[in-house]
Amino acid sequence: MSVRANLESVHLRIESACTLVHRDPSEITLIAVSKNHPIDAIREAYDLGQRHFGESKLQEAVPKIEQLPNDVVWHFIGTLQSNKARRIASLFPFVHTLCKESQLFEVEKAESPVEGFIEVNLANEPQKSGLSPDRLDEYLAKLLQSKHVHFRGLMGMGPAEADPGAKRTYFRLLRCLGEKVGALNLSMGMSDDFELAVQEGASHIRVGTAIFGSRQY
Ligand SMILES: *Cc1c(COP(=O)(O)O)cnc(C)c1O
Repeated sequence: MSVRANLESVHLRIESACTLVHRDPSEITLIAVSKNHPIDAIREAYDLGQRHFGESKLQEAVPKIEQLPNDVVWHFIGTLQSNKARRIASLFPFVHTLCKESQLFEVEKAESPVEGFIEVNLANEPQKSGLSPDRLDEYLAKLLQSKHVHFRGLMGMGPAEADPGAKRTYFRLLRCLGEKVGALNLSMGMSDDFELAVQEGASHIRVGTAIFGSRQY
């Protein structure tokens, strides 16, 4: 399947999910996750009108950011190592993976502000990054003190092996946490589960495989 056909199909799937719950598709930002895909694939999606792209490694993203037009909106979705946080904040207007205090210190030193999502570890999976839900209030209070991080919302994902019913429960949990802390945006849903996420209130979905095919490592 071509990027064109894939992108069209993802848009149709977003529209059907919206129809089910009476949402307007324009409320949803589709982030095309281009990690491990070449610049040509990104350019193809760009030429079809796609503007939001997600990358998870600084080193891989730098040449892509340099070579693509500057109206691309870059989202950082990988582990935000503190020693790279300052550089990442200068290159990516959106960061979806804030969960440590040290990251806030480093982003504070960047030249430009970032729109930040706090990553929540919804199922408390030990191998995954993200903040445990019960530490959210405390972390948000610190984030709100930082001048260079604008609080945008919460990001989360359920366990990869969860069935659709369980995934829905995790998305609902993120929505509830968001309502509790006044988060306006929810970054949730990937290739396998973005329709469920849209039904449960996602504002930003992060879709890689369904647009670009499987990743080459
Ligand atoms: C890779 C990645 C995605 C995209 O995953 P697909 O299953 O390919 O859609 C979304 N979010 C994060 C945080 C990722 O690392």
